[in-house]
Amino acid sequence: MPPRKPVLQLSGVERHYGQGETTLSILKGADFEMRSGEIIALVAPSGTGKSTLLHLAGLLEHPDGGEVMIGGHACNGLLDSERTAIRRSEIGFVYQFHHLLPEFSAIENIMMPQLIAGLTKADARERAAQLLDYMRIGHRGEHRPAELSGGEQQRVAIARAVANAPRLLLADEPTGNLDPKTASYVFDALEALVRQSGLAALIATHNHELAGRMDRRVTIEGGKVVEL
Ligand code: ADP
Ligand code: MG
Repeated sequence: MPPRKPVLQLSGVERHYGQGETTLSILKGADFEMRSGEIIALVAPSGTGKSTLLHLAGLLEHPDGGEVMIGGHACNGLLDSERTAIRRSEIGFVYQFHHLLPEFSAIENIMMPQLIAGLTKADARERAAQLLDYMRIGHRGEHRPAELSGGEQQRVAIARAVANAPRLLLADEPTGNLDPKTASYVFDALEALVRQSGLAALIATHNHELAGRMDRRVTIEGGKVVEL
């Protein structure tokens, strides 16, 4: 079998905030690589640069040095429109707070990115229903976010993030707002989805139990990504 392709590579990535004497160096030559099918925990104290790293990996920010590659393609030199196109088709995001659209049902929230990508309503609805089933909330599709529990809202947010079948899922403390038991259920569903789809997931978390269930654990130390 050919080796699995790296979905995400960071090579010598630099990220500094501020100027002159007040410069804050968050990433200083960070290297990192992940392949399809991998679930990796990013575990580090607050303020060390987890969100920064996820934003760089998700092409939401530019590094001050080094290169970010998605699916083997260097992304720094691309036009903003090209970066946006890669972000839309290859990358899904989940945040600590769900950011679902309140006036739409769960199923409509999951349909939205697919409709933007040009799918028909019927196809988008079918895929959304399938994803809700994978996330084990098939019966909650017609409810609006406010009618769902925190754990259900996050499962809808995850389903929405993968609706367009990205290769990379970036999650920034996705269970940070949930109690441990609910966090564990949400992670179960996320894991099932990742295993079934073969995508790669990088998940920032403070939850050591969940981190222990992932394939690898990395942290940020001295501005570099290191294995735990
Ligand atoms: P984490 O997600 O691990 O808590 P962040 O990546 O959000 O860490 O932030 C790392 C550090 O960089 C923090 O000290 C934060 O205050 C700083 N920082 C993040 N974004 C900016 C920004 N846009 N401008 C200046 N400082 C920032
Ligand atoms: Mg953060």
